[in-house]
Amino acid sequence: MNRSSDVVVVGGGPAGLATAIAVRGQGLTVQVLERRWPPVDKACGEGLMPDGVRRLTALGVRLEPESARPLRGIRYLDEQSVAEARFPGEPGLGIRRPVLHRALVDRAARLGVGLGWGVTARGLTSAGVETDNGPYAARWVVGADGLNSRVRRWAGLGEKRGRVERFGVRRHFAVAPWTDLVEVYWASGREAYVTPVSRREVGVALLWSGEKAGFDRQLESFPRLEARLAGATATSKDRGSGPLAQSASTVCRGRVALVGDAAGYLDAITGEGLSLAFHQATLLASAIRREDLGSYARQWRRSSALPFGLIRALLFAERRPRLRRRLIRTLAAEPGLFARLLAIHTRERPLRSLGVDNTSRLVWGLLR
Ligand SMILES: Cc1cc2nc3c(=O)[nH]c(=O)nc-3n(C[C@H](O)[C@H](O)[C@H](O)COP(=O)(O)OP(=O)(O)OC[C@H]3O[C@@H](n4cnc5c(N)ncnc54)[C@H](O)[C@@H]3O)c2cc1C
Repeated sequence: MNRSSDVVVVGGGPAGLATAIAVRGQGLTVQVLERRWPPVDKACGEGLMPDGVRRLTALGVRLEPESARPLRGIRYLDEQSVAEARFPGEPGLGIRRPVLHRALVDRAARLGVGLGWGVTARGLTSAGVETDNGPYAARWVVGADGLNSRVRRWAGLGEKRGRVERFGVRRHFAVAPWTDLVEVYWASGREAYVTPVSRREVGVALLWSGEKAGFDRQLESFPRLEARLAGATATSKDRGSGPLAQSASTVCRGRVALVGDAAGYLDAITGEGLSLAFHQATLLASAIRREDLGSYARQWRRSSALPFGLIRALLFAERRPRLRRRLIRTLAAEPGLFARLLAIHTRERPLRSLGVDNTSRLVWGLLR
């Protein structure tokens, strides 16, 4: 453990570890402080989009193919329609969080990142971070401490919450995956995500608006999925999260910067929190090396504009059942349009590639 380093990262989840790896890649010393012990599990749909896989590979993180499942695209299912589209290039990955965590930890350890497990940050000081294991000095402090970030509060980076509270819970089942697509089942005000995570296991994440509630009660809203899972043994304990929408008014101040969910999270509806976190990690590390956190704040805003816009658009439709049904019906009838939207979502195509023709087909489908 380094009591003094260039950078201290509070939070050893995916965002914190990816940032530490990227910071080491810039030739700086770095210490991670994580209150839990590895491998860390978490409520997550566990679908890593193709751009997330690319970013991890660029950070030198090795994901063993036998410990994950390739994801070839997305399937939307509601009461009336089924729409599906495939990723245009390399697949994404369905990967259990502890497996992902182990791969990140291995890479960080190989690069000489200081890894402090079972250490809880208690506050910021002029020299760095105070913890239940004493002080850690650093020039730069990164808050990667998740949705309910304390670093965000300590640094006075503001706190905003969504108007509608959304929650999530996940459970795994011993079932051979029946598809290589992520399935998203839509019902009124809630969605169920099914991600293949191994040859014999699928993860099911449920998201909804309103009150906190348990997995079984939420699953009743998806009779088709409930029937598929009937009799299957649960292979993990339920893990929940929420309220989901929380953000900072800005992502850095002085020598403190936020990354991952701590910097701002809207919703899991597009399943790309991890991909965004890995992108931000790379941006932040090079901003730290240039001693210019202001550039990170600008790049953060730019890089989150499209994903956050897409999340807002889907949440808007999700809260309007007729609009949501029309959206899925349109995507089912226009597979080329859905494939193009997916390619934009995974950064394989720019937004402008949607073009006038696709945009008018989408609008026409939503109005009909
Ligand atoms: C139901 C659900 C489904 C999702 N599905 C997907 C999906 O399919 N694909 C996808 O890409 N994303 C998905 N996400 C989002 C994804 O899980 C997050 O974006 C991702 O976990 C963010 O990583 P992080 O490192 O920022 O935060 P976290 O994973 O929350 O890590 C933060 C870490 O900080 C530690 N910590 C907190 N406070 C302290 C402290 N004071 N001192 C020391 N350590 C501390 C915590 O123990 C934790 O390990 C989903 C989220 C939910 C809730």
